[in-house]
Amino acid sequence: MESKLQQLKQEILNQLAEVKRLETLRDLEIKYLGRKGELTKILRSVADLSAEEKKTLGKLANEIKIELINKFEEVKISLGKNTETDYIDATLPGVEIKQGHLHPLTILQNEIEDLFSSLGFMVLDGPELESDYYNFTALNIPPYHPARDMQDTFYIDHKNAKGEYDMLMRTQTSPMQIRAMQKYGAPIKCIVPGRCFRNEATDVRHEHTFYQLEGLMIDKDINFSNLKAILEVLGKKLFGPDTEFRMRPKFYPFVEPGSNGEYSCFLCGGKGCRLCKNTGWLEIVGCGMVHPNVLRAGGIDPKKYQGFAFGYGLDRLAMLKYGINDIRLFHSVDLKFLKQF
Ligand SMILES: [Zn+2]
Repeated sequence: MESKLQQLKQEILNQLAEVKRLETLRDLEIKYLGRKGELTKILRSVADLSAEEKKTLGKLANEIKIELINKFEEVKISLGKNTETDYIDATLPGVEIKQGHLHPLTILQNEIEDLFSSLGFMVLDGPELESDYYNFTALNIPPYHPARDMQDTFYIDHKNAKGEYDMLMRTQTSPMQIRAMQKYGAPIKCIVPGRCFRNEATDVRHEHTFYQLEGLMIDKDINFSNLKAILEVLGKKLFGPDTEFRMRPKFYPFVEPGSNGEYSCFLCGGKGCRLCKNTGWLEIVGCGMVHPNVLRAGGIDPKKYQGFAFGYGLDRLAMLKYGINDIRLFHSVDLKFLKQF
């Protein structure tokens, strides 16, 4: 056994003398000194020898092992210094680090926030879990009002002091009109981007969770032409300088008069195409003069102040702008979709 040990030691030393790369050294270390290495096996078999042999051979085996460990360490250090055999090739292509980016809805929201900030509007954030009062009643939609049917939502299993279920996931960003008026009073200029919810059967155009962006401006002598001017600026910013804007009457409970704001189709320039259903116009924004009842609910005297409000779906706007044909893609977490932005 002694000769076997000496032979193995010599074999290892010979190979160590040839080693030129750290990788080869590592392989040798595993081959001989590793858990299942050849020297380790011999060391283990010492346990089966007689007490006499154990004394001499065990000592020798351990000495050889320590000598070899030191030798390996020595070679490792000398290889580490040798830049010719172990170097970094700086011309090789690197490993690409994937960088994340903003969601298309966030990109669009930021763009619109930039525009309105430059026009002196505050950007406000509001609660997604809202009370029935702020979401409906204060916006001129009392409990018996049929307009409530258009906005079914998710109610929270929690009763108020009167025993009513009055907490819900907001169906629109408009409750923030009231909250903003109560907090800041008049005059006020703000926009409110945010997430909204409705109890909808989902399809390519409907989603239970979506984003709206609300705008509110209240001051003395605010009129319809101020509203039109602001929304024209928005259209030109979103769809280009040649974009035209028109308003058609539409009922919304919280404005009087109310209007549907339409932009000339950016795809066909107003000539008519598939996107605009051959009308040349795209329905984008609901708007109007703030209803006196809404001003009163916000603590503002409608005899002294007037204002306008507008709101639109950010998802719909992003779908038009980027040519997306299914609203559900926004929340699909599908990287193939998201990487395109
Ligand atoms: Zn068109």
